[in-house]
Amino acid sequence: MSKEPVDWKKKYKEAALEIDNLEKNQNNDQLRLAVSHLTLGLQGQSEDLDGELASLRNTLNSTTHKPPPRKLVANIEKHVRKLDQSREDTAKAVTGSVRDWIQLLKKHFTLEAAENKTLAELDSATADSVERLYKFPPLIKSLVALQVTAFSSTKAELSTATNQLSIDVDLSLISSELLQLINVLNLTGERGQKSHDIVDRIEKGIKLEELADVLSKVVELAQLAAVTSNEDFENYLINLNTQLVEVQGFLEESHSEQTTAGDAHKQLDLQVRRDVGTISKAVKDSHDISELKTSVSSQLLEIVRAMDEFKRSEEDRDERLQERYDALMQHVSEMEDETKRVKAHMEEERLKARTDSLTGLPNRSAYDDHLNKEFERWGRYQQGFSVAIGDLDFFKRINDTYGHLAGDKVLRLISRVLLRNLRASDFVARFGGEEFVILMPSTEAEEGAKAIEKLRDAISKSPFNFHGKRVTITMSFGVTQTRESDTKDALFDRADAALYKAKQDGRNRVCIG
Ligand code: GH3
Ligand code: MG
Ligand code: MG
Repeated sequence: MSKEPVDWKKKYKEAALEIDNLEKNQNNDQLRLAVSHLTLGLQGQSEDLDGELASLRNTLNSTTHKPPPRKLVANIEKHVRKLDQSREDTAKAVTGSVRDWIQLLKKHFTLEAAENKTLAELDSATADSVERLYKFPPLIKSLVALQVTAFSSTKAELSTATNQLSIDVDLSLISSELLQLINVLNLTGERGQKSHDIVDRIEKGIKLEELADVLSKVVELAQLAAVTSNEDFENYLINLNTQLVEVQGFLEESHSEQTTAGDAHKQLDLQVRRDVGTISKAVKDSHDISELKTSVSSQLLEIVRAMDEFKRSEEDRDERLQERYDALMQHVSEMEDETKRVKAHMEEERLKARTDSLTGLPNRSAYDDHLNKEFERWGRYQQGFSVAIGDLDFFKRINDTYGHLAGDKVLRLISRVLLRNLRASDFVARFGGEEFVILMPSTEAEEGAKAIEKLRDAISKSPFNFHGKRVTITMSFGVTQTRESDTKDALFDRADAALYKAKQDGRNRVCIG
């Protein structure tokens, strides 16, 4: 059986061509499929284009495998070019808005270094966002997050600034005047304790919000001091009360302003949160970049408007408070002057009331106060003291011999000798008639008696001349010191008994009791 010789070469060529065609067809099929899918991606951008794309897909999917008509391809190209141009325009506009947004954030908020860094990064991220639209959603999301944090901290700052307005008040002047006034009131015993308490409180430093209470306590103290018969002082108290009402009014007003401010903060907070929420939602939901642009821009405008309005109302409020505060401070300063004046006047009155007019020495009432204070101190710090009572010897004779005026002169001269020869810490008063009393703080009787002995010596050596005649004046003293469970009367009686002994023992001497 003879066979035709096989043309292997031809056979191979045919097979290779077949495979080649098959591959080409396969590639063409894949290409058609890919183009068909891509047309779906472009779907929905424009009505005209949608029609052309449907025709293209029909052609590609037909089994005839005919190439699409040239006109169809040209039309699609024209539409796509137009679409690409408009997408680029919108992307540029959104980029512009986002940059404006970044600038607004920088302008309206006080930002931390880290926040500023994030903003700068976001700003540079907008550089190629026109080409890469998918960058927008995360970028806007970061901006929204940053704005929320910046907004909260700015709000906190604003509230702190508002609170400080009522705290930053220098009350040191009025405090020191009030302290001096309380001192002038010179309250002792139970009243003294009240005045100690208020002095402690003022010394610790008072705040404006406490001023009303402190003033009311001082008024109370002043009333306790029972000096209300003084018309000048009564007027002062009335003024102080008016001041009190004014401070209270200011505090109430600033409190209600504070509440209004709190409401405004809340409202702004809500507004910004709502707008930011709308932006977030728009970013999440939007499939259309142009719609997103409009939505973001309008929400941003809303936020800026709300911020402006809030700032304006904050400024108005601050201005109102500042005006009220200035007026109040003006009155506080007037009160300071008035307090100073009244205090000086009272000091004068008090001196008059507590000074012996003949000798200028403190009188018996001043001595009583001083003794009370020494006694309180002794009770508190266990610091004993000594008392000396001095009585001029045979003074009746001076009066009888040289006349009452000469006797007065002796009393004045003796007072000077007493003052000159005592320590600054000692206290001397004219107790009455020709009797003087001396308080020597932190001094025991022995030591006190020594000091009094020098005094006695100085008096006896003082030159008194009457009608050109030298007259010796002497004085007798009784000294004693505080003893455990002593009373003021017991202490005085012991000194008086010692004085009596000195007289009995021959006068011109010092006895310890
Ligand atoms: P003794 O040594 O016992 O104390 O004798 P004395 O004379 O000092 O005591 P007496 O109590 O008998 O007299 C006190 C006198 O002091 C009586 C009074 O006239 C006089 N005297 C009291 N106050 C004043 C005053 O203000 N001016 C004058 N000039 N004399 C006064
Ligand atoms: Mg006497
Ligand atoms: Mg006498």
